[in-house]
Amino acid sequence: MEQFSGKTVFPGIAWGKACVLVKQALAIDTSPSSDPDGEWKAFTSSIKTADDQLEELYEKTKKEVGEEEALIVDVQRMMLQDDDFLEGVENLVRNGSSRAAAAVDRMGKEFYEQFAALEDPYMRARASDIADIARRLTAILTGTDTAFSLTKPSVVIAEDLSPSDTLAMDKKLIRAFVTRQGSTNSHTAILARILKIPSIVQASVPLNKNFEGKAAAVDGHTGILYLEPDAETEKNLKKQEETDRAEEKSLEVLKGLPTVTKSGKKIELAANIGGVEDLQAVLDNDAEGIGLFRSEFLYMGRNDYPGEEEQFAAYKAAAEALKGKRVVIRTLDIGADKQAEYFGLPEEENPALGYRAIRICLDRTEMFKTQLRALYRAAAFGKVAVMFPMITSVWELRRCKELAAEAKKELTDKGISAGELELGIMVETPAAALCTEELAKEAAFFSVGTNDLTQYTLAIDRQNAHLEKYLDTHHPALLKLLGMIAENAHKAGIWAGICGELAADGTMTKTFLSMGYDELSVSPSFILGLRKQIREMA
Ligand code: PEP
Ligand code: MG
Repeated sequence: MEQFSGKTVFPGIAWGKACVLVKQALAIDTSPSSDPDGEWKAFTSSIKTADDQLEELYEKTKKEVGEEEALIVDVQRMMLQDDDFLEGVENLVRNGSSRAAAAVDRMGKEFYEQFAALEDPYMRARASDIADIARRLTAILTGTDTAFSLTKPSVVIAEDLSPSDTLAMDKKLIRAFVTRQGSTNSHTAILARILKIPSIVQASVPLNKNFEGKAAAVDGHTGILYLEPDAETEKNLKKQEETDRAEEKSLEVLKGLPTVTKSGKKIELAANIGGVEDLQAVLDNDAEGIGLFRSEFLYMGRNDYPGEEEQFAAYKAAAEALKGKRVVIRTLDIGADKQAEYFGLPEEENPALGYRAIRICLDRTEMFKTQLRALYRAAAFGKVAVMFPMITSVWELRRCKELAAEAKKELTDKGISAGELELGIMVETPAAALCTEELAKEAAFFSVGTNDLTQYTLAIDRQNAHLEKYLDTHHPALLKLLGMIAENAHKAGIWAGICGELAADGTMTKTFLSMGYDELSVSPSFILGLRKQIREMA
């Protein structure tokens, strides 16, 4: 047996086969070639291989997903025939002494930049196809295998995982995540908690391919990964599993009971979700509403923007499932660690301080209004509220509200029914927190995003595993801001909640209640435990 420890993200015991994910870097030789003809031949043969691979993928996608989705693959096949691309590569290979892989890489990047800068959203979205096809060709030319998929229930061991890596995997087969990097506040950690996947970050495990396929167990309570656990360990883990099950069962009796302290102080316990697949967990855990629907996950792990109908269907499903309880949907918060290539976002020095969330939506207004129309339509089927992320100034909120009004008018002009939306904001920047008095005049509610508010207040990148010793989530500066936000909300007669991960920190619950917070929104699996704690409070 071997064991490795790290920091726990979600407690629980998991079993599976170790699956070591090593992302292959493409080793591209940029030195000049002395054999232009040979390089050109290698290139034309890589085109043929890529075309064969795509043809196979086309058939598979058509059979498993649908004809329309398969067309995405066809678009890529067409790109393989693009004259400008082929000429560009030929020129670099024949006249510039470039090796085929280096030429493809360079042309791919040039084309990517050109497409990413285009106005038309459809054409802009093709940038990611270009990146994909260039990577496929360079992988073939350098003999790199880039495919990764799970085939059996797995304990995934990786250097780090981005939210899109996670989304691309078959969730039914992920038993646990163990990463060498990563922080407990990253979006992948948040996803793991929502999906109830026992996970460990900052684990001391090497990415050793010899581990592949070995029996693995993860103890999400202690943060330990076991490879080929011995009989004694297996017995202890099974015992812990039983305790977990009993604990879960003991919380069942709290379903249907109000979240209220002994002295009668009430607080709403809502759920954070990443998409409609989490609705069952919301209902199973008796959430009193949805306090954060992270709508950006609808935009990720795909090649093009989701349309109005698709978004409407998702928001309507949430509104209907909650049967009149409030569903707070956050508008698109893409950027920083949450990326989708088809957005063609520029590379940035400081992505967390860069082009993300509302900053993109206020530029790409047609895309934003598509989402807003879907939200207004869903509001006809339940109690829907909308919040805007990353607000720093009052004018941004005013502009969001103007666009919301335009979106609503576009619907009613066409005779399409639109419901009412409460329009609030996430308070997740120090600027917003410090301006809550002014913002409260324009917002219907505040929901505090403590994950970002912490990173921006303490100047600590939430992704950076090395900074966790400085990451004091109870820092007095944060507590001052939290107190101020609730106070300013209540002075203006609006409600305030917390939807960052801190909302689930049981050691803070009393403080949040005394600050007067009206709502706490947490991963569904934390709801009943918090309700128990609150009901036992004086
Ligand atoms: C937050 O910042 O606290 C938040 C809830 O949003 P996200 O974690 O998705 O950035
Ligand atoms: Mg945030």
